[in-house]
Amino acid sequence: MALLARNSRAPEVRRRDLKHGLIPWFYRNAQAGGGFNADLEGNQNVLLDWIAKLCGPPGAEFRWYFTSGYRNEPGSYHGAGKAVDVATAYPSDWASMSEMARRLYDHSDQYLELIHTRSDGGGYYVKNKQRVGPYAVAGHRDHIHLAANVSDIAAVAPELRRRGVDYSWGRPDPHELRQAGYTFAVRYVTNSGTTGKELTAREADALKAAGLSIVVVYQTTADWAKGGYNAGRAAAENALRFSRQAGSPQDPFIYFAVDFDGHGSQVASTFDGIASVIGVGKTGVYGSYRVCEYLLGDNPSRKRFVAKAWQTRSWSAGSWDTRISMAQTDVDTVVNPIRFRGHAVDYNLSFGFDFGQWDASSSSALSGPDWAYRFPVVRADGQDYDNRTIAAWENAAYKKWHARNSHALAQQIADELEAIEAELRGDR
Ligand SMILES: [Zn+2]
Repeated sequence: MALLARNSRAPEVRRRDLKHGLIPWFYRNAQAGGGFNADLEGNQNVLLDWIAKLCGPPGAEFRWYFTSGYRNEPGSYHGAGKAVDVATAYPSDWASMSEMARRLYDHSDQYLELIHTRSDGGGYYVKNKQRVGPYAVAGHRDHIHLAANVSDIAAVAPELRRRGVDYSWGRPDPHELRQAGYTFAVRYVTNSGTTGKELTAREADALKAAGLSIVVVYQTTADWAKGGYNAGRAAAENALRFSRQAGSPQDPFIYFAVDFDGHGSQVASTFDGIASVIGVGKTGVYGSYRVCEYLLGDNPSRKRFVAKAWQTRSWSAGSWDTRISMAQTDVDTVVNPIRFRGHAVDYNLSFGFDFGQWDASSSSALSGPDWAYRFPVVRADGQDYDNRTIAAWENAAYKKWHARNSHALAQQIADELEAIEAELRGDR
């Protein structure tokens, strides 16, 4: 695989600079972090799923929360998109947090940094894969800070970063793909019979039989996604029908392609239409960095249009969003043709347990209906769960208050989550 492009963009100042502003887990892809990223060595899905692998998903063994990821902090791993902070309620559940840190510490030779201070004054400190003496003690009682390169985590948890292909008309042999180390294929669902590039049931069976996971993407023409709300509705209905015809789960996750160098605002109403049919939680976007970051929530209203993003390196100037679930790293073009055993393909990486593959629920600790139900990313009406709280975090006075009261904030977040869960139980 070709070398990945290094970032060529200067860091941008973001309005949202949530220095340890505590953000509940269900904002993991919506509100926290994301945006500017140095390279594909940073990805929050990988870091959070790694923590879930060792400590269980939030709300299982430990009631933990994702409190901070990417933020505009040059010189820190947070500024490079390679760090996450997580916490339990503090100080009431400090012991659980320390137990989580102890488990993470078992793999200290994979980390750039691990910092957590226990109530007894001891703690867990790692720098550049070495266990070291205490540092940054005072600021790390109320959370765990973990920074790592994705490749180092993938070395011990390869399921968190898999290699895959996407292709259209030229169909490689699934067994040859699997033997070459590719474990997923992204395939088209589109207006059946019109182009010949769409996934068929027979082909899906062959992929499954060879041990490949299947991901689907909808596309007709390159700029269909500019069509607006009704075009989005029609696309979702078609994509759903063709996915099911090919043997997908009843409610599959589907990516929708924005295959031109545009801006997210050009396709926002189309994605509203899509989500009105299949829900934001089942909607993904394929597109450039600018399109992905916009639809993941970096837009003026901070609205979330998609649950996952598959970013292509095309039109992205070397930037990768830290929240993406797949990266198209090598793109077959006229100038730079890519062939696998003679078939035109693009090469991809996945991030995290669940990147929208059909068989995700059986293997993922963080997906599945129960998980999705308890920790919704967005409300049924498509709005973020708690814009009021987010807005408060951005309020200067609140930030001052937070600086003095961060100990209490984790408990407050825990209380809010409980209230939301109670509301959901009431809805049932
Ligand atoms: Zn941190």
